[in-house]
Amino acid sequence: MTASSTSSASDARYAVIGNPIAHSKSPNIHAAFAAGLGQQIHYDRRLCPLGDFAADLERFRNEGGVGANVTVPFKRDAFAIAREASLRAQQAGAANFLAWRGDHWYCDNTDGAGLVRDIEGNLGFSLKGKRVLLLGAGGAARGVIGPLLLREPTAIVVVNRTQANADAIVAPYLATHPVSALPASDLLAQGQRFDCVINATSASLAGALPLPDGAAVFAPGALAYDMMYGKVPTIFMAWAAQHGAARIADGLGMLVEQAAESYVQWRGVQPVTAPIIARMRAELAAS
Ligand code: NDP
Repeated sequence: MTASSTSSASDARYAVIGNPIAHSKSPNIHAAFAAGLGQQIHYDRRLCPLGDFAADLERFRNEGGVGANVTVPFKRDAFAIAREASLRAQQAGAANFLAWRGDHWYCDNTDGAGLVRDIEGNLGFSLKGKRVLLLGAGGAARGVIGPLLLREPTAIVVVNRTQANADAIVAPYLATHPVSALPASDLLAQGQRFDCVINATSASLAGALPLPDGAAVFAPGALAYDMMYGKVPTIFMAWAAQHGAARIADGLGMLVEQAAESYVQWRGVQPVTAPIIARMRAELAAS
């Protein structure tokens, strides 16, 4: 019997692989999914030595590993190692999801689906016909731009500290989709406003804003979304609240939804996410 055919058995092993990894909430999220569904899964954290991803994945496979989530800094390695990749992983050039398919690894990138499900499903904000400002052009921005475009916004404008990186992530879509990459100064000079502003930079980690402080980018009713999350609103969320955003959200829902997208692909059943997001929110507040 192949390992993949045993993936619903309780001996199937899953893991999140990264470096560092101790902070990862993925094991808790997957344990909560399994408990909610009356399933049992074995899901660990794996600290992978830098430069050792291929060998570590092989060790994991030999231990019975059939599925992995992959986080910083190995998402590109995961994509490179997989013999089969989803379209969205190909678009991102990076993968946060691996599933063993009998004799090879299949990879996917579930970040975009997680973001879209949180914005449209959990927050009830339809992206269709909306103008979207995507701040950042790193791995997360690259992973979500394709899935965002599938929701048919009228425009996605990418603004990033390093213009060349913004140019690179819109390049595959320029001929076919309403995307552009602009320096922040041009965007502000043109007075462009957006219905949805997504912070996909890691600026909040450094207590920095991804746009100049006085920038006026929010259209009436706009949603400001920071992919980062924490115990208190991020600096971006606080700034957005003061500068005209009607709704503010952080990335906790995205985190849970991208995990759910993994779970359903591995296990064939859709976990219920709302109570888990609520519980994690309460735990964060109490921490
Ligand atoms: P990367 O390191 O790949 O990219 C970082 C991005 O942030 C780049 O565009 C970089 O610009 C920009 N940036 C960094 N510092 C600053 C700053 N001080 N001012 C302005 N721009 C800055 O990171 P990721 O794309 O992987 O992650 C980005 C964020 O998204 C992180 O906070 C991460 O935690 C979060 N995330 C959340 C997820 C969730 O499920 N909620 C999932 C994935 C990511 P430049 O190109 O100029 O270097």
